[in-house]
Amino acid sequence: MSSSFQAPKGTYDILPADAPTVLAIREAFAAPLRRAGYGYIETPVFEDVKLFSRGVGESTDIVSKEMFTLTKRSDEDLAMRPEATASVLRAALQANLHRIGNLPVKLWYSGSQYRYEKPQKGRYRQFWQVGAEAIGAEDPALDAELIILADDAFRSLGLRNFRLLLNSLGDKQCRPVYRAALQDFLRGLDLDEDTVRRAEINPLRVLDDKRESVQAQLVGAPMLRDYLCEECKAYHEQVREILTAAQVPFEDDPKLVRGLDYYTRTTFEFVHDGLGSQSAVGGGGRYDGLSEMIGGPALPSVGWALGVDRTVLALEAEGIQLPTPGSSDVFAVPLGEQARTVLFGAVTELRRAGVRADFAYGGKGLKAAMKAADRSGARFALVAGERDLAEGVVQLKDLSTGDQTAVALDALVSTLKEKLK
Ligand code: ATP
Ligand code: MG
Repeated sequence: MSSSFQAPKGTYDILPADAPTVLAIREAFAAPLRRAGYGYIETPVFEDVKLFSRGVGESTDIVSKEMFTLTKRSDEDLAMRPEATASVLRAALQANLHRIGNLPVKLWYSGSQYRYEKPQKGRYRQFWQVGAEAIGAEDPALDAELIILADDAFRSLGLRNFRLLLNSLGDKQCRPVYRAALQDFLRGLDLDEDTVRRAEINPLRVLDDKRESVQAQLVGAPMLRDYLCEECKAYHEQVREILTAAQVPFEDDPKLVRGLDYYTRTTFEFVHDGLGSQSAVGGGGRYDGLSEMIGGPALPSVGWALGVDRTVLALEAEGIQLPTPGSSDVFAVPLGEQARTVLFGAVTELRRAGVRADFAYGGKGLKAAMKAADRSGARFALVAGERDLAEGVVQLKDLSTGDQTAVALDALVSTLKEKLK
């Protein structure tokens, strides 16, 4: 019988069989960032709820519907982080990183996020992101750098069936003009009550509505790209040119809005074509106003977050299996009490020398222990009984060929290190 408890709805356990893939994905996302000078940061999994309501935006789905708030004893309201950009910026400001070092401050993180969503494949209530933020610089090369690093990361995993969608959301000069024009247009449509309200609070989000009935009415809607000011247009053109020079393919998507309020200018999303409606494997953009929204100085910044869970699904969809090394190289099988002591010592010595070694625990008989050795995926079994010990040797059995050789106990570490090279 299993226990009477299950993982909470919308969550799942990462078990040892799947863990190597998850770890490899996180590493593939992180490696390009480290090479580009991003420093690792960790922040708490919960924060003052106002950091998110102000930083992510009251009108976003994330804050209005998906936030896990915590009951507490102090008078501070806390929420599980739904995303990490606001937290990372809060931490950078708190530690004065923007005053101490060079700008941009380049940071990356890896961790779980929490959103109260309707669970389905690729959409969970706890999920994992690796993300990057470059804080305090306005430079199209920086926007392009981040996009290139994400593209490199996905490619390094062998993924091919993904696309990069790119748009500019304008800035505080040109977006209000567009917003008013869009609102005018939306007021003339036949929309349900919720959508009418959204059109008033956050009209750009209506462009993102997935429903066919809404999309059909949006044909002919004013497009932000026709409203961009000269500065935004020039900036976006430079981002596009740098991406092209770096041979990163992209598609202009004038309707790409993304769910967060704080984006300005560059916005992008990576979508994978094998994932059905949960197709976004990562996204990000420039957020020039966020620092001021949470009480900091003006710090134009850009960042992204890539979804680890959906990348696992994307690898499956493309039939890509990442190499998963077995958990040990050597598995020790003692025959008798005296051999137990000696082989346990040998296993400890091997591990200290950097060899992955495991041991037949639980006093198994020879047959069960050899089966355990096979199942462990180890290349060699180390077998010894009293006669071997009397001769100062152990039997080294190659589990793939079945060949067995006696090795002097005091030469065991060097022999195995040689064989495992
Ligand atoms: P979606 O439109 O699918 O809801 P999003 O715009 O809410 O995605 P972001 O906030 O941009 O997503 O987060 C970046 C990435 O994190 C997404 O591209 C996706 O890969 C992943 N992600 C977001 N929400 C979830 C979730 N509930 N479960 C699993 N992964 C998620
Ligand atoms: Mg979402």
